[in-house]
Amino acid sequence: MVYSWLNNIQYRLLPGRCILCRGDSGRNRDICPPCEQTLCASWPHCRHCGLPGPTDTAFCGHCSTREQSFNCCIALAPYRQPLDGLITDFKYRRRLSSGVVLAQLLAQRLRNHYLHDSWPGALLPVPLHWRRQWRRGFNQAHFLAAALARELQLPLQANALQRGRHTPNQQGMNRKQRQKNLRGAFTLECAPAARHIALVDDVVTTGTTAGLISELLLDGGATRVDIWCLGRTPPPRVGPR
Ligand SMILES: [Zn+2]
Ligand SMILES: [Zn+2]
Repeated sequence: MVYSWLNNIQYRLLPGRCILCRGDSGRNRDICPPCEQTLCASWPHCRHCGLPGPTDTAFCGHCSTREQSFNCCIALAPYRQPLDGLITDFKYRRRLSSGVVLAQLLAQRLRNHYLHDSWPGALLPVPLHWRRQWRRGFNQAHFLAAALARELQLPLQANALQRGRHTPNQQGMNRKQRQKNLRGAFTLECAPAARHIALVDDVVTTGTTAGLISELLLDGGATRVDIWCLGRTPPPRVGPR
């Protein structure tokens, strides 16, 4: 309540500036309506893991042959232009206004999604290794989870998950190597605060991290884990263009 009151006062004094086109947004939000439409345009994806594909499908090739430990993955947009630049600004240049706006847009998408489904009882951010967090100055997943908890009035359980071991970057690894690389990297320090959990991250690439943490939460007493993220990485291009 106090937050939204302060927010309105701030926009009366200083009009909103669009995080994408950098023009006046013309409203009390830092994104103009045309740029919002661009970012939030619907895109074909797997109904289960959110993987962008050529057409909307119930299940992508992977999900139709293998069971995932998480219930669903809800993303704002595919991780490509213009979302990738905004996430880079937010994550590596600490442009927190981009993080706030992207969380607001994701909250909008989630409100539509959960019109016909039950809301999770707690939000948990994917933890960052302390060394990486110290270098970056913050954990972007925690920032997003806190913004979403405020927008959606849901409890945040920030420290239940810990990242114990520093893991090498997963780029170029196959599925088996990624699983081996990440095994034991995460620990659950206390029971999840609800049976239905939303795990929050900025970008979901292969889904290996999301899958392993979901298993950990299910072993720890959760009965359902939904993944919420800003960007879902499209599969790499295969064959001639
Ligand atoms: Zn704009
Ligand atoms: Zn899928």
